Amino acid sequence: MTSLDLIIRNGSVITPSGVMRTEIGIAEGRIVALESQVHGTAKETINAEGLHVFPGVIDAHVHFNEPGRADWEGLATGSAAVAAGGGTMFFDMPLNAHPPTINAAFFRMKQEAAEAKSVVDFALWGGLVPQNLDKLEELAVCGVIGFKAFMSNSGIDDFQSVDDATLRKGMRKAAALKLPVAVHAESDTLTNQLAQQAIGRKKTGIRDYLASRPIEAELDAIRRAIAMAEETGCTLHVVHVSSAAGVQLITESRRRGFDVTGETCPHYLALTDKDVEKLGAVAKCAPPLRSASEQAKLWKELLAGNIATVGSDHSPSPPDMKQSEDFFQVWGGISGAQHLLPLLLTLGYFERKAELDLVTQLTSANVAQRFNLPLEKGRIAVGCDADLALVNLETSFDVRAEDLFYRHKQSPYVGQRLRGLVKRTFVRGNTVYQDGKLVAKPLGKLVKPHAR
Ligand code: ZN
Repeated sequence: MTSLDLIIRNGSVITPSGVMRTEIGIAEGRIVALESQVHGTAKETINAEGLHVFPGVIDAHVHFNEPGRADWEGLATGSAAVAAGGGTMFFDMPLNAHPPTINAAFFRMKQEAAEAKSVVDFALWGGLVPQNLDKLEELAVCGVIGFKAFMSNSGIDDFQSVDDATLRKGMRKAAALKLPVAVHAESDTLTNQLAQQAIGRKKTGIRDYLASRPIEAELDAIRRAIAMAEETGCTLHVVHVSSAAGVQLITESRRRGFDVTGETCPHYLALTDKDVEKLGAVAKCAPPLRSASEQAKLWKELLAGNIATVGSDHSPSPPDMKQSEDFFQVWGGISGAQHLLPLLLTLGYFERKAELDLVTQLTSANVAQRFNLPLEKGRIAVGCDADLALVNLETSFDVRAEDLFYRHKQSPYVGQRLRGLVKRTFVRGNTVYQDGKLVAKPLGKLVKPHAR
């Protein structure tokens, strides 16, 4: 133990077996020692007194829109925001890039863009669309984390939604490839019908939009997706579940023995329909934000351990796409990647007494496990990548537009006071973010799931 790169002393380290007062020795990007006292010398020693050492957040759900729509977000700005929030890896969704990630050639374009610009590691979702059922295999060879499908309109013309027949075929193929399918679960028929009725009556305000995407539309789609997953043997992950009833459908399927999990997002836990009325376009998303009573039920499910992962679903657009009198026309997508962890700490750990362990499961360990990441990812243990975040749980901070790393300085959380300040983020031992500043050149690497 002579040539360490880094020793982190005096921190409270969140390990798979609990919060421990232990020192961390890091060499060549890996954690090589976790001991009450790490001996030897290092190029740098950090005194983490008063700080918690978290496993880096793995945000399994972002839309960074590059290549092709970097004016919406971009891999440099998006990954910087992830790092500023204690994140060390993201999974980019396939739809908002142009071209979308629906075949091997388009996958490589995104991989190259991300390797050139991302300051954190990344994995890529492949698309499952009506035109690419014969491309799923080549996407699997490229190393996609799984396949994302929309059961309702994606909002992007070159990324079509799937009907049930297509989804079933896609699930069969995904099952054979041993990769999960992730679905945006809202009934296209119901949401379309309600939207057209409202628009026909010239009712295009915020409340009208919210009413056009009821919980029932989510439940209808989740039921169908689960039925197909059970029939095909496909691993299913329902993204951005907005309701406790949706989580319960997923839990019931798992109890029947099927491999079905759900994700929720910070905005469903932090904001309600009243916030959309107050904040407008910056808080528009689909499924939409729900009532305070629904939110309370969702929290209950989360605290009970029935939700597998929390991803930000960071999905911004240029500001002009957020400006319309007609709320149906406004781009739906919330910017949230930078505050995923502080929101869970503020609302979960501090306000609802969630264990830190639950928080890190939702943001790191479960994500790594669910998506079959290499064992080096998602936890603090000897042999693992030194993907870490130093967090001061005692420090509160105000979310300010000027502190956002996003391309467009928009966030529904601006003005909120959050607890749990990320001081420094390490990706494979490299400091990428420190005290409000990005301090690294792009070093992000593609991470592929290991074979099941
Ligand atoms: Zn999304």
